[in-house]
Amino acid sequence: MTAVRPRNHRPSRWYAGLAACLLALAAHASDPAPAPQDDGPYVFDAGKQLDAVWICGGQVQRTSVARTATLPPRCGYPHAIDVPASLPPAVSKAAATPRIVAVSDIHGQYDLLLRLLRANKVIDADDNWALGRDQLVIAGDVFDRGAAVNETLWLLLRLQQQAQQAGGAVHFLLGNHETMALGGDLRYVNPKYLQSARLLKRSYPGLYARDTLLGQWLRTRPVLLQVGDTLFLHGGVSPAELELALHIEQTNAAYRASLGRSKAEVHADPATAPLYDGKQSPIWYRGYFDGQLGPDEVRALTQRLGLARIVVGHTTMNHISSLHGGRVIAIDSGIKRGESGELLFIENERLSRGLLDGSRVPLREFPGAPPRED
Ligand code: ZN
Repeated sequence: MTAVRPRNHRPSRWYAGLAACLLALAAHASDPAPAPQDDGPYVFDAGKQLDAVWICGGQVQRTSVARTATLPPRCGYPHAIDVPASLPPAVSKAAATPRIVAVSDIHGQYDLLLRLLRANKVIDADDNWALGRDQLVIAGDVFDRGAAVNETLWLLLRLQQQAQQAGGAVHFLLGNHETMALGGDLRYVNPKYLQSARLLKRSYPGLYARDTLLGQWLRTRPVLLQVGDTLFLHGGVSPAELELALHIEQTNAAYRASLGRSKAEVHADPATAPLYDGKQSPIWYRGYFDGQLGPDEVRALTQRLGLARIVVGHTTMNHISSLHGGRVIAIDSGIKRGESGELLFIENERLSRGLLDGSRVPLREFPGAPPRED
């Protein structure tokens, strides 16, 4: 066959041009445009009404609704949302119930959380509260990394409402990533949400500002919660900051008042600096894991606080783990990786791990007195 040459073009230049064109196309193909996304709703205070905003296929959709409306599922979060008439205040202390379930560090892995909660019958197949009068504790870090942060927040709000009606409770505690997101530290934000912020013409923290329903709810959340003789918090109690754990209500109030302030501000203010210290504060501490404290120091700490145990997230383990003779339970089971995760069950003095297939593995037995370590 005879090659067809375009007229008026020298072959070498023509082929060079074609090659450059193909290279440009290839480069473009390897740099995909952000996929049109679904997100929402974002519910904004608009005086007598609420503005409910979704992003559906990359397009902003707005609806004005009454303040006590039920928002139908549109895109993003798949369930209807009953806008609460009021948000319950933070609980810092609660009585123990026969079953307490805890999970932490969800980091936007909504689908994995659903599988875990369904498999362990914390929720039913339709994602309704199934723990009756018992309690679920979320020990911080719902925000950042993953692409389904809002779905997770709406689910937890729904479960909190349903649990309250059933006589149970859902306690969502703030972790360092909640404070980072609200304070404008965007280092770990999923790019999807920066795109949502652009589409809604707000800053990222502006999506959770005081004029938003989720922002108002987050500003009711505690950092420390004592249930019976178990203290839950995201990072841990450092002996250097013992006072913060001796006065839980005051510490929670101080965190609430400081949410939304920038990192520079909270570090510069002597009143808030201990709350945000990257090494010793309740949302950042890792001293039970890195050798700062041994079993004797942990025993002294829990005795001083009158606790059987401290349950923490933040430091990722492959499995929920019992440390320091059962006085520290580490529950960040690596959900952020999006592959697996576990729930902690405390049923009277029996502790167990709830796995993704719904099976349960005893964590540690506490027959009467805590085990000795020597
Ligand atoms: Zn954390």
